[in-house]
Amino acid sequence: MSEVSGKVIKVSGPLIVAGGMANCKMFDVVKVSSNHLIGEIIELRGDKASIQVYEETGGIGPGDEVVSTGDPLSVELGPGLIESIFDGIQRPLNKLREKGGDRIARGIEVAALDHEKKWKFNPTAKVGDHLEAGDEVGYVQENVLVRHSIMLPAGVSGELTAIYDGEYTIDEPVAKIRTADGKEKDVIMVQRCAVRKGRPYKEKLSPSMPLITGQRVIDTLFPITKGGVAAVPGPFGSGKTVVQHQLAKWADAEIIVYVGCGERGNEMTDVLNEFPELVDPKTGEPLMKRTILIANTSDMPVAAREASIYTGITIAEYFRDMGYNVAIMADSTSRWAEALREMSGRLEEMPGEEGYPAYLSSRLAEFYERAGLVKVLGQKDKTGSVTAIGAVSPPGGDLSEPVSQATLRIVKVFWGLSASLAYKRHFPAIDWLQSYSLYVDRMADWYDKNIGAEWNPLRRRIMAVLQEEAGLDEIVRLVGMDALGAKDRLTMEVAKTIREDYLHQNAFHEIDTFASLPKQLRMLKLINDFYNYGLNALRENVDIEDIIELPVREKIGRAKYIDEKTEMDKFDEIEAEMKSEFNALIG
Ligand code: ADP
Repeated sequence: MSEVSGKVIKVSGPLIVAGGMANCKMFDVVKVSSNHLIGEIIELRGDKASIQVYEETGGIGPGDEVVSTGDPLSVELGPGLIESIFDGIQRPLNKLREKGGDRIARGIEVAALDHEKKWKFNPTAKVGDHLEAGDEVGYVQENVLVRHSIMLPAGVSGELTAIYDGEYTIDEPVAKIRTADGKEKDVIMVQRCAVRKGRPYKEKLSPSMPLITGQRVIDTLFPITKGGVAAVPGPFGSGKTVVQHQLAKWADAEIIVYVGCGERGNEMTDVLNEFPELVDPKTGEPLMKRTILIANTSDMPVAAREASIYTGITIAEYFRDMGYNVAIMADSTSRWAEALREMSGRLEEMPGEEGYPAYLSSRLAEFYERAGLVKVLGQKDKTGSVTAIGAVSPPGGDLSEPVSQATLRIVKVFWGLSASLAYKRHFPAIDWLQSYSLYVDRMADWYDKNIGAEWNPLRRRIMAVLQEEAGLDEIVRLVGMDALGAKDRLTMEVAKTIREDYLHQNAFHEIDTFASLPKQLRMLKLINDFYNYGLNALRENVDIEDIIELPVREKIGRAKYIDEKTEMDKFDEIEAEMKSEFNALIG
């Protein structure tokens, strides 16, 4: 493709209009002025291109040269991704700072990955193998946690004619392949991949397995599938950061991609300081060893923020294609939508609700649709998944605004963080009456087979008790606790146990921070058995006060501190005590 070059006609903040661009394509990346600022064509009319520029446009003016690269906005995928901190268009932040100082200087060209570093390449394919796109030729042990598979890129297949065991940079050939047209082609460890389109896969599967998080309110009441999509609103101080950290640490996803779109400057700085300090609880290694951070601080232009979620999800898909379960967290999509709104305003597009462009929902949907469980490319029957969790930050916590509404129409799980629960120090402050998961039914079989036939009915019952409590609360507010019958009193007590002893979970307690599904099941059973014994005792005319005061209740309350590695038999002991205490009451 021959280079097209035009001239700047107009500059409006991060948006530039250039003439003489007739032979360009939509979404081509361009370099603007002698500073080589990176931009992307987002509208073409005749020979005029509207370009969103990912860097400060100060000093750029009419007449400056604009050169199209002919390529769409792309990322580099290969060894070295893990542990990186990138900006929205995959420039490594530390390199930018090294070259340009604290405020990111403009037009700095730095490669996303290190092209000098040599990696030990371990072949897994042999000469003579017939390989297809997505098949592995070998791997690099990127660090103790991540085995980085080197795959044939999309569109490449043929017979392997050479493979080299040794240390190579990502640009040096590690194998050769003879394609169908008889030509030999080098296989290198880096791929370039456009970000605005999903990476290819064989087949999208219907996700039916939970992403296990060890957080009881999520796993029991509002579970998400591997490959699912969730939204979490984040009123300030409601515990959003702790929820995200808990998910990053404990969820059974091997790779974490965190895309941060900070509002206030220090918000992103917090993430950049905190994430590298998190420890992977399963291995004791720094969590960064299986994490990629994409950070948009507030001093970066809005256009880079717009691009960042695509950069993030493309990286997530790449690890999915190796067969990993990946979780991507976008925080927050509201900030991302504001960037979209700003660009749309500058394009003078017809504004929709609250000034957001009419395509807000379709853009959001395009992002979330790239999550999923898929059969990946390649001859081996392998699956991988991308689970997407998007935070929304509605102004004033009002979910009726356009970004929240558009998000809620797409996602299947909603974890409604509530400021009032956080105020009462009920953590995680996920409101059980407001939240939902539309995956529950399709995962029912999985729980039956893997956790036990009691799981689904117990979950339903716990939810029913909580809903009943909400109704009874109304009555109590109007006429007082005394107006309730004994059965309703018991229901209220059980609901309190569910809230305070089950749903409440201390992220900072060594044992309580994580509960496996088997432990959750045992805890649920204790509560449910207490309820059943209680109802039975009421039928035998036992006084409700005597039931409420049974000593075993304290033990049920402390069951969350049972160490599941060594003390699971304690659950049997509590069950036995409960039985004998109720027997004593009935006499
Ligand atoms: P946000 O990010 O929404 O502003 P944070 O996640 O920083 O809020 O949470 C605020 C505070 O709430 C934390 O510092 C912590 O003390 C408390 N907190 C939040 N979640 C939990 C939890 N699961 N367990 C214990 N404390 C929590």
